[in-house]
Amino acid sequence: MSLMFTGIGVSRGIAIGDAYLLRRNQIDVTSRSLSKKSVPVEIRRLKRALKIARQQLLDTRDNIPKDAPTDVSSFIETHILMLDDDALSQRPIEIIKAELINAEAALQKQREELGRVFGSMEDSYLATRIDDVNHVIDSVLRALDGGAEPVVGSENWKGQIIVADDLTPADTVAMQHHGVAGFVTETGGQLSHTAILARSLGIPAIVGVSNIRRYVKAGEILTLDGNAGMVLAEPTAEMLTNFKRRQKETRLQQKELGKLIDTDAITLDGVALKLSANIEIEDDLKALKRVNANGVGLYRTEFLYMNRPTIPTEQEHYKVYTKVVRALKGETLTIRTADLGADKQLSGSAAAASAVASRPLSHNPAMGLRGIRLCLSETHLFIPQLRAILRASAKGSIRMLIPMLTNISEVEQCLQLVEQVKQKLRAENIAFDEKMPVGAMIEVPAAAISAHLFAERLDFLSIGTNDLIQYTLAIDRIDDQVNYLYDPLHPAVLHLIKMIIEAGKAAGIPVAMCGEMAGDVRYVRILLGLGLTDFSMPPNLILETKKTLIAARRATVKKQVIALMATAHTPEERHRILDKINSVTAK
Ligand code: PEP
Ligand code: MG
Repeated sequence: MSLMFTGIGVSRGIAIGDAYLLRRNQIDVTSRSLSKKSVPVEIRRLKRALKIARQQLLDTRDNIPKDAPTDVSSFIETHILMLDDDALSQRPIEIIKAELINAEAALQKQREELGRVFGSMEDSYLATRIDDVNHVIDSVLRALDGGAEPVVGSENWKGQIIVADDLTPADTVAMQHHGVAGFVTETGGQLSHTAILARSLGIPAIVGVSNIRRYVKAGEILTLDGNAGMVLAEPTAEMLTNFKRRQKETRLQQKELGKLIDTDAITLDGVALKLSANIEIEDDLKALKRVNANGVGLYRTEFLYMNRPTIPTEQEHYKVYTKVVRALKGETLTIRTADLGADKQLSGSAAAASAVASRPLSHNPAMGLRGIRLCLSETHLFIPQLRAILRASAKGSIRMLIPMLTNISEVEQCLQLVEQVKQKLRAENIAFDEKMPVGAMIEVPAAAISAHLFAERLDFLSIGTNDLIQYTLAIDRIDDQVNYLYDPLHPAVLHLIKMIIEAGKAAGIPVAMCGEMAGDVRYVRILLGLGLTDFSMPPNLILETKKTLIAARRATVKKQVIALMATAHTPEERHRILDKINSVTAK
């Protein structure tokens, strides 16, 4: 009988293969009471297990293939740092002493405590870091049990679909080397490390399919649809034929899209478009080159602050920025200053090194001390980044983008700080681009409504629809329960976008969009109709967006968008017009 499972599709693509069930030995965490006398022995046992787990991680790190993405080694480094952190190396010892329980039970208690802490984090990226904590704790528990982390990739995995409870980054890399067709896991989320790697390695993957290992048997045929987040076990002959056809179609589509790499991005009525990339880590540059993007429209620098115990120094910022701008060979790099604070918190010692740790927890962090608000209140975080961006501007075309601006006074403060930093650099005889453009992310409704004021003072604007929609519609962008209200076509959202584009035009400055909407093929023609020509998105969406836009005529979509905004009052009406707008496809 065929069975269907659904989960979160984290890496697109269609895979067909035999199921390989990855079962790791159950870890024993039975709690035992200790006598006071046996506490030192138990502590020694735990310390030894920590040492073994550490050595295993070091061995894994040393065996990472040279051509693996750099994320892989940084994930392993993170696991080593976690293992060395007091939370895992000291706290369980304190629990053993205080509660007179065995090492396994102490680790389990600490796992639960950390689970609560991570679970309450607003930032979905940080919340999913509990997966890493669990991997690390499991490896210590296995070492306590005398077992080692199972070696992955030693079996013949070629063409199989791996079904596991969870996978480590090292597993995922091994899978690519062994040519697995795809993987499904019972746990994990869109932002887990495994998901990030699956995307960058191009392995179709679905996570969060609870209990799938209970129902699927080894060797059964599975079909995996990474776009829809759907797995079929033992599909009928008809289903299988259908999947094979779709798999072939997807490959052909990818190949076809590849032909657009050197095609000019110009609409049918001659409007020239700019399609640039959003990047988070240096490795994204490879993907950017594969699709021939027009430089970087958004470099989210928060990731430089994450997964590390300290705050990056000016020199560290500088080194990364110069490396990225040089790799762009003349194309522009738009560096967004750190958007830390609400949903991207500094953690551990990095937070302690700033005043963040000593501040009271915000009840509503998305509206709290975030982005430029945090940078202006903690200039020791901000100035090294400003200096590094300015210094790097001597090495290539760089623009600086400021997130979360709400008030003009924040713009004035930023510009003053930039001027002070410039003066110091001049005094130190350090080169920089005197004319480096400074722009604003327009992502707060108040800034959108007064965009003309921002446009008068700044060199460019970039629309951040992820936050603009969150704040306009009052829906927390990371809360699943209100996800159904997320509507980029809401008249209020469209009006704000139109206002921002028009404010930029009136002031004669460029306006880009770097929120997810700019790479969503359902909406890009609407944006074109609203007057947008500068789209920035994840590199893997660029060719599809180009295909959609170059088959459109701006004059036509402009009329359709005016009709949509004037007459379509219900979501159904809006979607009817949207379908019409998108019905014209390339020949
Ligand atoms: C946005 O808000 O649209 C945006 C691009 O910024 P981030 O998603 O990083 O908040
Ligand atoms: Mg934002």
